[in-house]
Amino acid sequence: MADSWIEIPSDSDFSLANIPFGVFRPRGKKLDFRLGTRVGDWVLDLAALEREGYLGGLNLPSSTLSAESLNSFIALGKGITKKVRTRLQELLSRENSSESGLEKDLQTQKKAFFKADEVEMKVPVEVGDYTDFYSSKEHATNVGSLFRDPKNALLPNWKHLPVAYHGRSSSLIVSEDSVYRPWGQYKNKDSDLPVFGPSRQIDFELETAFIIGKETQRGYPVPVDEAEDYIFGMVLLNDWSARDIQAWEYVPLGPFLGKNFASSVSPWVITLEALSPFQTEAPPQDPPILDYLKEKQRYSYDISLQIELKPEGDEALEISKTKFQNLYWTQAQQLAHHTINGCNIRVGDLYASGTISGSSRDSFGSLLELCWKGTRPIRWPSGEERCFLEDGDRVIMRGWGEKDRSRVGFGELSGTILPSPVPSFRG
Ligand code: CA
Repeated sequence: MADSWIEIPSDSDFSLANIPFGVFRPRGKKLDFRLGTRVGDWVLDLAALEREGYLGGLNLPSSTLSAESLNSFIALGKGITKKVRTRLQELLSRENSSESGLEKDLQTQKKAFFKADEVEMKVPVEVGDYTDFYSSKEHATNVGSLFRDPKNALLPNWKHLPVAYHGRSSSLIVSEDSVYRPWGQYKNKDSDLPVFGPSRQIDFELETAFIIGKETQRGYPVPVDEAEDYIFGMVLLNDWSARDIQAWEYVPLGPFLGKNFASSVSPWVITLEALSPFQTEAPPQDPPILDYLKEKQRYSYDISLQIELKPEGDEALEISKTKFQNLYWTQAQQLAHHTINGCNIRVGDLYASGTISGSSRDSFGSLLELCWKGTRPIRWPSGEERCFLEDGDRVIMRGWGEKDRSRVGFGELSGTILPSPVPSFRG
């Protein structure tokens, strides 16, 4: 990828090879949100660039770029959104700088360029439906071992279909938004009856998610080999979980209040085009799967993932490192399975991967696994210990691909646990 005339730190997730899309506004000014991209430490206002004539000839309705979500932009189709990304790369590359003129156009730069730490981000898409899969074999095996039987950790359906549940979109939040500790029903050890109180087992789940770019009609499944046409891009996702509430409520219908109080997403949507250099083999599947899930070209993406935990007043500790391509089920298989019954999909729908765990203890994607159900605490040099999250704890997730000195990443996804905002719940 060519160099940019904008200074981009060499370890930046937002190289010229990335060009993600998001929704922002200048911080603290109560101005309208608008679409942007991110390059190095700068956020570029796409509506302003269009007004100044830099996105001419691309058939972009201007209301699309000054919208409060990416939905109408994404709905223009990859034919157009790919061209916008390419145009932005041309405008910013050193090679084209004299042709594009943007480098010398300080007036436009003043209107369209914002420092990344001076903007407020928003959940980038209006999410109609949110689904959470359960596609990491290592995670499903760990959870099955912890809650059921280590000898039969995976249930009989797990290797035949990508297991999932329908999640909740109203409580999707963006990075840096706080998470309130939920109160609910759970059972204390040695008691048959539940109590009501603040969850004492708040956890995170390291996940990615893909965003739908093209709708389907009810009755028409997405073929597994065409799935990529329907996926606009990816974000990081933290599926906050209250393990005590979850353990008591989940039988027989699955996750509910232990999950739906908040899920955080990273603010920049990384397109599949930006991720394509990181395509890599997906794990082999055994036993054989049914035909509608068989891919002609089966692949995943080589994306490194990292989790840090920072207690209030203490240092951030890296507590896990894992890889996206560990997932047993690919995004194409997830989407093919999700729609095989004729379920239609809409632009902006969000499909999360499920917790991504590797096979060793330092690569697990949740505290439940990292601390093995509260039996092996994580320790800080200061003496601080954690098995589940305390108020004030900040969880930071990162994800990136790196190849031939070119880096494409998601930036940071963070969130801090706060006590309930309801006074009577605070005691
Ligand atoms: Ca999950």
